Amino acid sequence: MSILKTLRQKLDDKTMSAVELTTTYLKEIKHKNNLLNAFISVNETKALAHAKEMDDLITKGKATLLTGIPIAHKDNLCTDILTTTCGSKILSNYQSPFNATVVDKLKNQGMTLLGKTNMDEFGMGSTNEHSFFGVVKNPYDLHHVPGGSSGGSAAVVAAGLTPFATGSDTGGSVRQPASFCGITGIKPSYGTLSRYGLVAYGSSFDQVGILAHYAEDCAYLLQAMAGKDKKDGTSIPTDPDFFTKSLQQDLTNLTIGIDGQLLSKLSAEAQTLFQACIAVYQKQGAKIKDIQLPDLQAAVSSYYVLAPAEAATNLARFDGVRYGYRSQHANTLDELYIKSRTEGFGAEVKRRIVIGNYVLAASQYDAYYHKAQQVRAKLKQDLDMIYQNVDMILLPTAATTAPKLGAQKDPVTTYLSDMYTLIANLTGAPAISFPIGQIEHMPFGAQLMANNFQDHLLLQAVCAFQRQTAFHLPQQLLQGVNA
Ligand code: GLN
Repeated sequence: MSILKTLRQKLDDKTMSAVELTTTYLKEIKHKNNLLNAFISVNETKALAHAKEMDDLITKGKATLLTGIPIAHKDNLCTDILTTTCGSKILSNYQSPFNATVVDKLKNQGMTLLGKTNMDEFGMGSTNEHSFFGVVKNPYDLHHVPGGSSGGSAAVVAAGLTPFATGSDTGGSVRQPASFCGITGIKPSYGTLSRYGLVAYGSSFDQVGILAHYAEDCAYLLQAMAGKDKKDGTSIPTDPDFFTKSLQQDLTNLTIGIDGQLLSKLSAEAQTLFQACIAVYQKQGAKIKDIQLPDLQAAVSSYYVLAPAEAATNLARFDGVRYGYRSQHANTLDELYIKSRTEGFGAEVKRRIVIGNYVLAASQYDAYYHKAQQVRAKLKQDLDMIYQNVDMILLPTAATTAPKLGAQKDPVTTYLSDMYTLIANLTGAPAISFPIGQIEHMPFGAQLMANNFQDHLLLQAVCAFQRQTAFHLPQQLLQGVNA
């Protein structure tokens, strides 16, 4: 039985109260977060009071599916309690006056906030080594990164410090850390979840996602957050069963596309795991078809022009005047802007701002920004052709398991490691990463991607896989390890 269902049952039959449940997780956080550095803030004071209120609702028979269930939010989702830092010095004391729409929706349905999770600054990074609040460690091996940018969220779900966490995915930041930490992570179709109150990185790419052990739980949490929001013009209306409608269906009507050439470039160990994964799908009646994916290197080039361009624009608002960090060393207004930003942003964010402004400069616009938009449009056309023959595409989430801390020194190598995830963001498509085994004791994930608004098919396919396999089940991690 999934974690959500198990917890719901315990709360409803009163084998456990919401206060006890929240206390258990807060204790785990207290004992283990110092090893992981995965929470930026913990909701020690208000979480128990909230859980108490939820117990009253449960007693009155007014519980919904999520009443009294704890969750952690990535620290780029605005919350009206705790700070919202985005992993940056520039927002290190920022207190949002409001909740993001998705945060409000989960709160209104009774979820208790445990804390806010560490992340690469403003979502820029793939290892969680670019946070003002320090590096996050992988609970499978503390010498390895958890992935990024939602590395804190992935680490705390994997290590059992929270049952679920939100993340955000601009170029793979939910799926890649999910793969590195042995859990399930989904980025839904662009538009299905409101971005209001998600601090913007690349607005045409950003989407909120969920990290959990079971795909089934991802489906119910996404459903609880989905829908049209008048505060986000890009959000769309979704049916009440948009994500959950086919979770229990078998796979006999589904065709999965596989790019054999692409898979053949993976390590022998990774190929073996993929073969086993494909065999599980075939056994369940899914049809497998050969496809040829478009050039994923072009996707990397396009993304690393467009995302910095959008980031440079979005991050212009952090000027030391309106909110956030303000330099104490400035004598003029110009100096205030320059010094606040120089002191407040980390190196990777500055790199992106420089790249973004360069590609948007009038003299460079045609060579970079315009070209990258053309590549983006072409990728969508190529995928649309592929989806005429298949329902979804199976590909790696990342080529490897989690690298060691400090191993990725050159930014371009890190950018290239996002090769398999960026295409979903460039095309607005839904994609999910799920564990398919381990390589040298570190988890390894596969990714399924479908055409826009076919999210339910992905959830159906991963649920079916998880009914037959055990890779997603919670593991006893960090036993007997000392800080
Ligand atoms: N690694 C990618 C980047 O640095 C994606 C990050 C994300 O999805 N937020 O831009």
